[in-house]
Amino acid sequence: MSSINAKTQRIKNFALELGFNGFGVAGEESAKSVKKYKEWLDLGYEGEMSYMSRNKEKRFNLDAVLSGVKSVVCLRTNYLTADKDMEFSLNKDRGDISLYALNEDYHYVFTERHRELEKKIQEEFDGCQTKVYVDTGPILEKPLAQKAGLGWIGKHTNLITEDVGSYYFLSEILVDTILDISEPALDRCGTCRSCIDICPTRAIVAPYILDARKCISYLTIELKGVIPVEFRKAMGNHIYGCDDCQVVCPWNSLAVKTDEEAFFERDGSRQLIDLMLMDDEAFRKRFKGSPVKRTKRRGLLRNVAVALGNSGNLSAVDPLIDALCDHEPLIRAHVVWALGELLREKALPILKESLAGESEEIVKNEIKLVQATYS
Ligand code: SF4
Repeated sequence: MSSINAKTQRIKNFALELGFNGFGVAGEESAKSVKKYKEWLDLGYEGEMSYMSRNKEKRFNLDAVLSGVKSVVCLRTNYLTADKDMEFSLNKDRGDISLYALNEDYHYVFTERHRELEKKIQEEFDGCQTKVYVDTGPILEKPLAQKAGLGWIGKHTNLITEDVGSYYFLSEILVDTILDISEPALDRCGTCRSCIDICPTRAIVAPYILDARKCISYLTIELKGVIPVEFRKAMGNHIYGCDDCQVVCPWNSLAVKTDEEAFFERDGSRQLIDLMLMDDEAFRKRFKGSPVKRTKRRGLLRNVAVALGNSGNLSAVDPLIDALCDHEPLIRAHVVWALGELLREKALPILKESLAGESEEIVKNEIKLVQATYS
């Protein structure tokens, strides 16, 4: 009869054969990470991400997710396919999309692979119960991954692995039996603070503490309404997520790439003006099966309008004037701001004429803001 170690090793080998790039096993969630998470919630740093404070019972108690859970198989899947440096921020006419979102929605890619691994675990540990998590459920996946030895939580709050970097997805399989538990990973950030210093919106308010409400990933993806004015200039050309803190991280200078086809950048323009011109149908076609569709057209074009406002590109003025008639008030509101940024006082007569019949409060507020700034 095989030992637990031998069975765990066979499961690990199978996971690597399936295409996972990292494997580790954690025991229970630590009281320290639960306490840290509760303190973070108490500060309100999750903003509008109410799902982060829902299901607390499950998030702080794995047993409520899978009764009798004893081990958590933590998995890493690399998604990096192309180098990225800070040069991207200089191309102001092109929208920057976070590396993980340039390709297929990873949830689709992962489903079959996890099912196969679940079957293998159930085969090795006959009769055991399992539950898969791919970014979908209330568990503290980064502290678990650190406990499972996959990497450490960096000062930017992402997980980093020595000799691999941080461009990867995490996923988990909960198991109600004891597997061979891994050694936790040690923090290797040292005195470095590059991620803290580069953050355009100063969202890393202290080492290891992120105020998500200021984070460009939150502002461009999670936030559904108007982007607070104080963050718009700092958003630069970011239109979906932000990788800045990961790009400057020294551990990513040798980040490992994957040849997984689904993770290569899909075709389609990222020129801001082209994106601003997308109607509903064009948006659906361009971002079908992509993580970007999460913002819906109105969220993405809101972000594109801000990026155009930051671009200094006067060729964007005509498309923006056309977008003043867009059926989405959220888009119109940010287009008003963008025209103010590009044309300053010259925007005033255009806004007055185009928006004489404007009835939406969020758009009127933006007009008042531009008027107050440039009158
Ligand atoms: S940039 Fe430096 S401080 Fe930030 S996560 Fe990387 S190593 Fe840690």
